[in-house]
Amino acid sequence: VSGTTYLKPLYAKEETAPDEVVLHGGICSCGHSFFPMQAYGCEMCGQSGEALQPKLLRGRGRLVASAVVHIHPDKSRPVPFTIVEVALEQGPTVRTLLAEGAADPKPGAQMRATLVHVRTNDVGDEIVDLRFVSAEPAASGY
Ligand SMILES: [Zn+2]
Repeated sequence: VSGTTYLKPLYAKEETAPDEVVLHGGICSCGHSFFPMQAYGCEMCGQSGEALQPKLLRGRGRLVASAVVHIHPDKSRPVPFTIVEVALEQGPTVRTLLAEGAADPKPGAQMRATLVHVRTNDVGDEIVDLRFVSAEPAASGY
């Protein structure tokens, strides 16, 4: 299908709240949740197969750590950009990029998942990827 927005099956927009992004994670019968979904084995208890079930995870969490990258060998990747590690409210920690380039949120800051356009493929599909933005109430700056 050409011209449609392509979302990796790892995440999707929340149907009832289009501004919210949900992540396709999983949960083990022991209670451990993880991202992305997989059925190979639980990192906590080692169970596999049917013990591991898909679970939608809310794209909200708190910043664990961030690093601003100023030099990158891939020239197609404009610098600076910021790598963030976000601990989701529902457990798993996700590492991806900050949507806002070189902004420098502080550890503990509330973060919100968002989907950004990264490129358009050969048949015109919009390719999007997961990013995080600060979800702190606007004070100064932005
Ligand atoms: Zn488990």
